[in-house]
Amino acid sequence: MIFVVMVLVLLAFVVFWQFDLHKTLYVKLRARDASDAAALAAARWQGQTLNLIGELNAIQAVLLTEQLGTAAIDTAEADALNDLRSRLSFVGPVMGLVEANQVAHHNRIYNNPFYTRQLLEHVTRIHEEYERQFVPPWDSGPGAPGAWTEYAAMLEAVARQGLAVMPENPSWFIDYMDFHHPLLNPAFYDAVASRNWCWFFLHRHALLASYTNWRSWPSLPALMQREPLNAEVFSLRLNRVRTAANWPVLSPLAPNPRTGEWTAQTGAVGGGPVEPEVVWLEVAWHGYEPSDWYRWTEFIPAGFPFRSPVRSVYDVLGADAAVRVGAFADRITPGLGRGEVLRTAAAKPFGRLPGDQPIHSLGMVLPGFHDVRLIPMDASTAPEQGQMPGWPDHIYEHLPLYMRHGPGALPAGCYYCRQLNRWEDPEFRQRGRAWLEQYHHTCHHATGPGSGPGGGTRRGH
Ligand SMILES: [Zn+2]
Repeated sequence: MIFVVMVLVLLAFVVFWQFDLHKTLYVKLRARDASDAAALAAARWQGQTLNLIGELNAIQAVLLTEQLGTAAIDTAEADALNDLRSRLSFVGPVMGLVEANQVAHHNRIYNNPFYTRQLLEHVTRIHEEYERQFVPPWDSGPGAPGAWTEYAAMLEAVARQGLAVMPENPSWFIDYMDFHHPLLNPAFYDAVASRNWCWFFLHRHALLASYTNWRSWPSLPALMQREPLNAEVFSLRLNRVRTAANWPVLSPLAPNPRTGEWTAQTGAVGGGPVEPEVVWLEVAWHGYEPSDWYRWTEFIPAGFPFRSPVRSVYDVLGADAAVRVGAFADRITPGLGRGEVLRTAAAKPFGRLPGDQPIHSLGMVLPGFHDVRLIPMDASTAPEQGQMPGWPDHIYEHLPLYMRHGPGALPAGCYYCRQLNRWEDPEFRQRGRAWLEQYHHTCHHATGPGSGPGGGTRRGH
């Protein structure tokens, strides 16, 4: 009887385990569909918003041309269009987040309370900090709540619906990273956590050898002041110029063949003639930020396993949407509890100008986005290491304490503080130095799969 009972217990465990395995696989498949659909939905909103902003640019060119002959140019209409474009560059991407969550819900992914809390905490920070620190991106008019209050209200409305999807490539205005200061670089903490000595060898060779104690860090830089123009989620990465002649391709200082293309295209979109003199007027236009809109293949890590070359007309980085879905699988095997399935996906809007010109080739935003596609996470602008929760608290609260009082002031329960404590241990650093002395020749920059130890891309796909 004892034997039979033991066999029955074992059998029960096998059955539980089988059930859990299937359940986990099922949740994984659902999370995959949901994250793909969410990334595509967000990218579609990016493309549509860019097209709208482009149309408003073109309408502005037509309206200004009509005024060229008059005595004084009235810029009131152009100013209103500028305001509208600035609002759109915030509203469009936030709508992308709304729809990304809707499609995830349709794929039966439930709200993740942690994501919701994160976004609500961010809304609080917008109320507390942004009015004070940043220039408002649009003029809300007298008596209306400021632009930042409106923006916070938008995000709060999204968070109140519950979040199943979080953006994986957000650019929170005040959660900066600085890859030149190890303490502000998440890769440093990840290297400590995984004892990735090669990271030190390749990026911070002197640090392991020369570091003595917390007093030897370079001081922390001050917060950067900025004039934000783009939403923090699914940013369109646009800039604004005060006169169109600021774009080299449109500057009429030299005979410029592209100016003709520009007048033809804005005229066609805006529904009226456009004269090249318009580029001299002092009115705002929305354009592609050159430090973000450049060749995509320059951004993608070397050795990326392309199946075929990227077509030059679509070889453009710029706006993309990366998302994260965290789904839960309740398991019945005793002791296993709840398992979290994490899945990321990225997508990107694609477009071109007539004549198979890259979409950003005239500098100014013009409509032309016509498609969205999933892209590999490695080719997206999501940061190299998935950020662990608590980064803002760490850099704004823990690091200043640490710089003043040393490791004794680091609170428990923070992933980044734990890594810092480990780093402070001289024995830990000594182990790294000893390992590198023996094995540093095995450290290589990632150069695609199969090219040696340390090869492979940043993530599996
Ligand atoms: Zn910390």
